[in-house]
Amino acid sequence: MNVDQPDADACPAGRVVLVGAGPGDPELLTIKAVRAIRAASVLLVDDLVGDRVLRYARRGARIVHVGKRGGCTSTPQAFIERLMVAEAQRGETVVRLKGGDPMLFGRGGEELAALRAHGIDVDVVNGITAGLAAATSIDVPLTHRAQARGVLFVTGHARAGAAEPHWPTIAAVAAHGVTIVIYMGVATIDAVQRGLETGLPPATPVAIVQHATRPEQRSWRTTLADLAATVRRARVGSPAIVVVGDVAAVAEAGAIGTTGYAAA
Ligand code: SAH
Repeated sequence: MNVDQPDADACPAGRVVLVGAGPGDPELLTIKAVRAIRAASVLLVDDLVGDRVLRYARRGARIVHVGKRGGCTSTPQAFIERLMVAEAQRGETVVRLKGGDPMLFGRGGEELAALRAHGIDVDVVNGITAGLAAATSIDVPLTHRAQARGVLFVTGHARAGAAEPHWPTIAAVAAHGVTIVIYMGVATIDAVQRGLETGLPPATPVAIVQHATRPEQRSWRTTLADLAATVRRARVGSPAIVVVGDVAAVAEAGAIGTTGYAAA
């Protein structure tokens, strides 16, 4: 038995639910997510979670923002994990609200493991990931069968100390009809463009969506050759999704033929 674990008889059993809050529009929450938010006594909220999602929290629930609001540095991950464990051990019903989907660039896996290691009862509720929502919000079908046979979700930069994405390899995959959806790519956009240009034509269509599904949503269509310049010119900031591939020009081009945009 784990000695860190509280005596089951001494403490009421709390639990944690890692909940995907979706890209921002509260209408995109799942019914399961809304139920979990309503049931929570404590909510630990990431900075990418829109305030409108919190309207489902019950009155009196404790809401803790653990993201980097107001330019402050973000709460260290280890602290968040300790906090979740402590609250659950005190018998609280904890909801950890994360932008998009908790298991996609959301540290859901790390938190799940940490909670399980402490014997905490934990569940995960999927959310609509930003990459899907961003594409759909501008009518881009990520795997339109005339143009793509798959889709690759990739981060624009790795965590400190880890290898950066190998863009030439990603470009080679994309050249075989795989759409690329880039998260967290704005800060490293020059490297992204340079790397992808090693394996994709300069005219490859690109779409950028900032603040997808939120009232302040903005979007741009460009090409790979003009990607970094567009980001700079339009002052695109985080959070934004970059979609690279022929499908990125689909809605712009109107009806889609079976020969693909590039050939049209
Ligand atoms: N777990 C989240 C991703 C977190 S990583 C998910 O599944 O969506 C953070 C990145 O997600 C941001 O840098 C940005 O690339 C993207 N992102 C999150 N919300 C977004 C939004 N509303 N619009 C555009 N991009 C968003």
